[in-house]
Amino acid sequence: MSLEKFFDPRSVAIVGASQTKGKVGYEILTNMVAAGYDGKIFPVNNKADSIEGLKCYPDLASIGEKPDLVIIIVPAKVVPSIMEQCARLRVEAVVIITAGFKEVGPDGRALEEQITRIARQANIRVIGPNCLGVIVPSNRLNASFGGDLPREGGIGYLSQSGALLAAILDMANANGIGFSKLVSIGNKADINELDVIKALDTDADTKVIAGYLENITDGDAFVRAAEEISFDKPILLIKSGGTAAGAKAASSHTGSLAGGETAYEAVFDRAGIVRCNSIKTQFDYAQALASQPLPQGRSVAVITNAGGPGILAADAVERQRLTFAKLSEETVTKLSARLPAAANFYNPIDVLGDALADRYQFALETVLDDPNVDIVVVVLTPQAMTQSAETARAIVEIGKRKADKPILACFMGATKVEEGVMILREGNIPQYESAEQAVATIKVMTEYVRWRARPKRVVKLFPVNRRKVDTIIQRHLRQGLREIGEADAKEILEAYGFITPKGAIATTAEQAANIAQQIGYPVVLKIWSPDIVHKSDCGGVKINLKSDEEVMDAFDLMMFRMPKRVPEANILGVLVQEMCSGGKEVILGMHRDPRFGPLMMFGMGGTMVEVLKDVSFYLAPLTEDEARQMLVSTRTYQMLKGVRGEEGVDIDLIAEGLQRLSQLVTEFPQIQEMDINPFIVGPEGTTPVAVDARISVEPENSE
Ligand code: ADP
Ligand code: MG
Repeated sequence: MSLEKFFDPRSVAIVGASQTKGKVGYEILTNMVAAGYDGKIFPVNNKADSIEGLKCYPDLASIGEKPDLVIIIVPAKVVPSIMEQCARLRVEAVVIITAGFKEVGPDGRALEEQITRIARQANIRVIGPNCLGVIVPSNRLNASFGGDLPREGGIGYLSQSGALLAAILDMANANGIGFSKLVSIGNKADINELDVIKALDTDADTKVIAGYLENITDGDAFVRAAEEISFDKPILLIKSGGTAAGAKAASSHTGSLAGGETAYEAVFDRAGIVRCNSIKTQFDYAQALASQPLPQGRSVAVITNAGGPGILAADAVERQRLTFAKLSEETVTKLSARLPAAANFYNPIDVLGDALADRYQFALETVLDDPNVDIVVVVLTPQAMTQSAETARAIVEIGKRKADKPILACFMGATKVEEGVMILREGNIPQYESAEQAVATIKVMTEYVRWRARPKRVVKLFPVNRRKVDTIIQRHLRQGLREIGEADAKEILEAYGFITPKGAIATTAEQAANIAQQIGYPVVLKIWSPDIVHKSDCGGVKINLKSDEEVMDAFDLMMFRMPKRVPEANILGVLVQEMCSGGKEVILGMHRDPRFGPLMMFGMGGTMVEVLKDVSFYLAPLTEDEARQMLVSTRTYQMLKGVRGEEGVDIDLIAEGLQRLSQLVTEFPQIQEMDINPFIVGPEGTTPVAVDARISVEPENSE
């Protein structure tokens, strides 16, 4: 969808324009005028003849022509009637600034539904209500009450919070940061974040899409579109926390570990969206991505006029696991020929405290030419002879001429570098107060490049017995059951290629010993009851039983103790199970997010999962690469690979288990939550075993 009528209107009507200073209707009108908008402005107000020298109209119809864009500022209960007027005039684009809708309760919600209905019927696209407006610097359009028109620039910004946008505008104007478009999306009655993101994607002036979101309206559509858009243009989002919509009490480990933000994080990860924690960092990243080329590699060179800041920059490079560029011999020779003998010709290149702009200029040009350098950070401290403004001009000039490698500036200090900083900003060289921030930005750039270069997503499909699983799930749903019992869960897992331990149910001690002999020692005994979810919590698991006696004793003890510990449980017997020795326990899980679908989980398994919380999440369906990434991003991974000479386990087979589980939950949307815990894996060449599983189901499309 194009938002052309919002971004580039030939005429704008302001319904609710006011002549009273301080009123929103006055602010918007004067902002429109002050910005130098060159289209027509029609103030609509039935109590005034003219406002600020502009002819005023009593209603939209009396304008005599159809405005491209209508801004509505009248009280909430009057908005539907204005919308009706817009419908009659066949207006296509409306921004409703007015608050007092969905955000205030049921009455407001009803009012909002009413205006959405009018809009749908009349094909009117609506931004808002409860928003700040739209700003397009290149068209001198400031249809907002957010503040002065900012500079033109490559950042397209959308915000679900109007107040935050006002703060951003103020900050940006003070720092000379430019924008392509600013959109306050408010309650998103019609146009939502994805519509705006799509419009910014096709907008030639937008180089980076940045925004503040509280939620995502259509999770499915977002997941489908975001990946492609973010390949085109980097997306930087601040997502404020909140509870997961429709979150239900979790019965699985995965459910209880997946917090409200987990799904968003997984969606952002998959789509290559950079999640930012503050406006400050967001603009740190946005400025570089909007003005600089993407780096070809990860090798950073630092030019500085003081030792200390150079070392700080070097430390930051190391901490962020970037590469500190090793300058070529040619570069070192060139530098040593022109720089004073006391200078440092190796990275970080120290041009010394008495360096004037020309020394910086020479060093920067030389270092940029070095094939071993991908990114340059120019650090400047204001010393006695330092020419901050001239140096800034030199950097800007080089940046224009040599536009193939990113240059980031770090002019440290305040008043003494102020002029230089402004020159850098206006010259589109991103400037940072500390080397740390500059390097953190470089990290984000290189990660984005890495994400863009990731292998094409191919989801492997394993041959499975889908019908068998379908039968089991249907039977449970017919009987109104939500939890799938251990025996059926085992069958489901086997149908999807998992190996489960041998075992059988015993109701007497002798029978238990008999089964144990058939399985072979050692064995495990587990209480068998549909009412006990976490067996070991109540002493219902005895492992490593090595003889008939041990089995019979354990059986008797369990049968004696269990009814006392869990009197309400219906105990059907004891499961005698093959013991899996010598492996490591991990957990493979899934939690179905109401907005975004199945979220896969991997982590350290066993009974300590909730305590250690060393888990990672990713959206299903998983590719092999993504499954592997899930493993790598946990601390457990180090342990699985083997520590201090201890043999590691078969990582590939864990990744395969995750992919099989991902296939299962993708093919059966009825599965709400499940986990395999423990999934016991041994060294390479051994077969992992799905020892214990929990599966819960719901009829499809139920909330
Ligand atoms: P629950 O999760 O209901 O407490 P589990 O079947 O997962 O019961 O068993 C709890 C723990 O006992 C497992 O995490 C594992 O450490 C151990 N265990 C259970 N069954 C086996 C088995 N067959 N082989 C090896 N260890 C086992
Ligand atoms: Mg378990």
